[in-house]
Amino acid sequence: MKAGPRARLPEHASDGPAVADRAAPEGRHVPLRTCVGCRRRGPRSVLVRVVVVRAGSPHAEVDDARRAPGRGAWLHADLHCLELAERRRGFARALRTPDLDLAPVRARLEQGGLVPESARPSFTEMESGLESDGYPMSTQR
Ligand SMILES: [Zn+2]
Repeated sequence: MKAGPRARLPEHASDGPAVADRAAPEGRHVPLRTCVGCRRRGPRSVLVRVVVVRAGSPHAEVDDARRAPGRGAWLHADLHCLELAERRRGFARALRTPDLDLAPVRARLEQGGLVPESARPSFTEMESGLESDGYPMSTQR
């Protein structure tokens, strides 16, 4: 006879999916990119790449092939994310270009068809957590 009966449930077993996201290794199997708008990460296939075109006045354009040379920024194909990126100056930072004209990107997003509808992020619970400097809000408990 050794230890007494232990009938307690392991309440602190932390195998929930909520924490796994933070420490996930990047780019092992699926290359992940961070959206400059909502700061969520996703596979490249659901994000569009935005590059700077310096002909004339610098402006941003969608890099359809996702492989144009130079610095690129990644964005969900969603106007919501574009607006977030504008507000946070995400493109200016990522592309090292202040006062970037985002109108061409906006036009492409409004056209749609950049990524499959089903691949878009869902913004159901995010609204109130957006100002907290990109801290991922976790409402699941
Ligand atoms: Zn986004």
